[in-house]
Amino acid sequence: KLEPADAQNVTPMMAQYLEIKAGHPNALLFYRMGDFYELFFEDAEVASKTLGIVLTKRGKHQGEDIAMCGVPVVRADEYLQRLIAYGHRVAVCEQMEDPAEAKKRGSKSVVKRGVVRLVTPGTITEETLLEPTRANLLLAVARLRISDHEARFGLAFTDISTGEFGVSEADAPGLAAEIARLDPSEIVLAESVYEDGELGSLWRETRAAVTPVGRDVFDGAQAERRLAAFYNVGTIDGFGTFSRAELVAASGLVTYILRTQVGQKPALDPLRRDGASAHMAIDAATRTNLELLRTTSGERSGSLFDAIDRTVTAGGGRLLAQWLASPLVRPEAIMPRQDAVAFFAEQALLRGQIRTRLKSAPDIARSMARLALDRAGPRDLAALREGLAGIALLEGLLQRQTDLPPVVAAILTALARPDQSLAPRLTAALQEDLPLLKRDGGFVRTGFSAELDETRALRDESRRVIAGLQARYAEESEVRQLKIKHNNMIGYFVEVPQQAGEAFLQPGLRETYVHRQTMAGAMRFSTAELSTLESRIASAADRALAVELQVFADLAQALLADGAAIRAATEALALLDVIVALAVLADEENYARPLVDASLAFAIEGGRHPVVEQALKREGKPFVANDCDLTGEKSGAIWLLTGPNMAGKSTFLRQNALIAVLAQIGSFVPARKAHIGAVDALFSRVGAADDLARGRSTFMVEMVETAAILNQAGPHALVILDEIGRGTATFDGLSIAWAAIENLSAVNRCRALFATHYHELTQLTKKLPRLANATMRVTEWHGDVVFLHEVVPGAADRSYGIQVAKLAGMPAAVVERARTVLAQLEATDRQAPTAKLVDDLPLFAAAPRPAPQAAVKQKDELGEALDALDPNDMTPRQALDALFSLKAKR
Ligand code: ADP
Repeated sequence: KLEPADAQNVTPMMAQYLEIKAGHPNALLFYRMGDFYELFFEDAEVASKTLGIVLTKRGKHQGEDIAMCGVPVVRADEYLQRLIAYGHRVAVCEQMEDPAEAKKRGSKSVVKRGVVRLVTPGTITEETLLEPTRANLLLAVARLRISDHEARFGLAFTDISTGEFGVSEADAPGLAAEIARLDPSEIVLAESVYEDGELGSLWRETRAAVTPVGRDVFDGAQAERRLAAFYNVGTIDGFGTFSRAELVAASGLVTYILRTQVGQKPALDPLRRDGASAHMAIDAATRTNLELLRTTSGERSGSLFDAIDRTVTAGGGRLLAQWLASPLVRPEAIMPRQDAVAFFAEQALLRGQIRTRLKSAPDIARSMARLALDRAGPRDLAALREGLAGIALLEGLLQRQTDLPPVVAAILTALARPDQSLAPRLTAALQEDLPLLKRDGGFVRTGFSAELDETRALRDESRRVIAGLQARYAEESEVRQLKIKHNNMIGYFVEVPQQAGEAFLQPGLRETYVHRQTMAGAMRFSTAELSTLESRIASAADRALAVELQVFADLAQALLADGAAIRAATEALALLDVIVALAVLADEENYARPLVDASLAFAIEGGRHPVVEQALKREGKPFVANDCDLTGEKSGAIWLLTGPNMAGKSTFLRQNALIAVLAQIGSFVPARKAHIGAVDALFSRVGAADDLARGRSTFMVEMVETAAILNQAGPHALVILDEIGRGTATFDGLSIAWAAIENLSAVNRCRALFATHYHELTQLTKKLPRLANATMRVTEWHGDVVFLHEVVPGAADRSYGIQVAKLAGMPAAVVERARTVLAQLEATDRQAPTAKLVDDLPLFAAAPRPAPQAAVKQKDELGEALDALDPNDMTPRQALDALFSLKAKR
């Protein structure tokens, strides 16, 4: 354990190290020493293991060797990236003065150092550390207790690399779904929330790095004040109204950011309510199952996103992923997007022109964010130069169109916002080829600054003078091989071959040439003229750099002053990219425009699976389109799908869920025709998914997940259940599936697709009017089963399990034996017991439970009335009246 108190009897440098380290116990400390960041003690051990770099020793601490390792400053990004990827946090400690300054104070004096930045997964901005097409969200979760066993959670999230800032609220059951939807890189929360046993699994199972912080970060009493201070406004009322939980989370978020950035303030958009109710609720299991953004094995390729992504910019890719993660629910919100997609779907030429321009547009959102944090380099300015020019071009292109739908018209307005003089100014100031770092200089174009041109001329002039000197020295000394060279150790020097060097030590020459070094085969000398030149060149270079840095600062300031407009235009660019990309998708893949309304309809004609269809297409195989009608009454709102393995049941189930998702992000859908009553919650479960990693039996997982659906799904939900119940003994599983279907039909009253092996269940249609049977068509050909992938009404007459086993290469003797056993079993009529069940069991009578929605509403009404009260602003009389009116509401 390291304590600053240990700092006695250690070198002054170690004392400084220990003190700084004590301030950052949870981070690896990158301690700057010259060209390296050094790590000591345990930090060194962790880093050397993670990075595979050599562990060395440096001095002793309390009698033991101090472990040490180092990374070169020039390659720090690369190492940071790996440490962050492994979930570490890094405190970057820089030298805060020139080492020469420290020397002046005395030989024992240590260079001043300080932590300038904490690097955490959610607060990075460097291009090299970020995934281009993925938003890098930092999420803060604040808990507000409303009673002993009830709490509300405020969520605030930001992408520091783009400035986006949203807040939302959830109850305890909804929290996991919100986290799954946002898919953050890092979650910040109070230690007490982190340690809450009931939520524990949430933090363990998320992909995000979880950072517990002291309670002061989420100090409710400071929330408004901190937010107002962050945005530099008197009051945050102008941003809209937010709940207590949202404000506490938002203030926790900015407080944490300021701490990690050590005072540097990123430019964040004003907070915006990200109403969860406006989005389709999709829980984590469903997201995994439907492979919306990643496949179950965690890859992009093979996911829905991968299949439909036709965007050409990083910002567009990020926005599309965000849309897919949060499909909309209100038709009024979906329609404008659809209109915009439809507009471009009909304009192939315009689409092509827009995409060409978008393709060459750099990712300026992230460049702007780096600029605000003073972490930008010349290439960020160049990106902005190209980006702003691109924005102007696109604006011109859209300007020429008529009858723009509202979304596109809004895009046009936003593209026109940035100051038009910025792009030409950047073009005039910047060179074509640019260095990575501004301190390298050389990025300002000749002709932009007279002062700069002058100092540069001086520098070039000096180079000519040196060439002249070399010629003169060679002639005077009669040593033709004499060269003037430069290195960082001794600056400019004269170098001659060893044998010629002796002459320079003799009177005559030695008055001019001062001996500096003798190398193998060469000798080096300095002269007074060279020293003078040296300092002239150095000071010219310093002056030139100072001018360049000033130019940089001026440009940065002009850009930041127009920051809000530039960010709005950048967002418009991403939106345009997504809209056009969806139009391209619709055209390339032959998608149709769905009708989305607030009804309970679900009528898909000729639907296809967006991912499987493309995969089959690549193999030159056709996809068989299928209808699905869950509108109710005639067609049945719940379909019970039977059919052998490999017949296409899972594909059919998922394709309908994916069609709903696509329709509700505003996209066209893979179908001939579709009418969808907006789905407010989507659930998808697969039976017996192996989940040993989480240490629960697969059957338990299946039941926990199915329970969640039966408890939550309402009439506007869409539920997909694939082989639920097969993880246990036949009769158990059958009974559970049976009861689940009855519950879906009588209590949840939602639309559902239920694939099953239990043929016995098909009997249920006799009793449940909302249930319909459907099956996958198969035929037999010479004793082999042939899958037609066609969904037809009715129940499968048999399961073809033995034929599938034969297809799979099961030994012929085993197949034959199985046939015999099957024949025996069938002779005993396995349908008898269940056929009787249908007749004998009374219809499912779920114990009436309070409709969850109603309960919440009542509480909300009371809660809202309470929220509306401000005790600070009331007379005692008013307070008493309010109390009476609250009582009346109960
Ligand atoms: P099940 O769930 O019935 O075991 P799957 O849905 O996994 O069957 O489908 C098995 C395979 O059949 C898929 O990998 C796919 O290649 C093919 N398939 C499924 N549906 C179709 C379809 N509608 N058209 C063409 N091929 C299909």
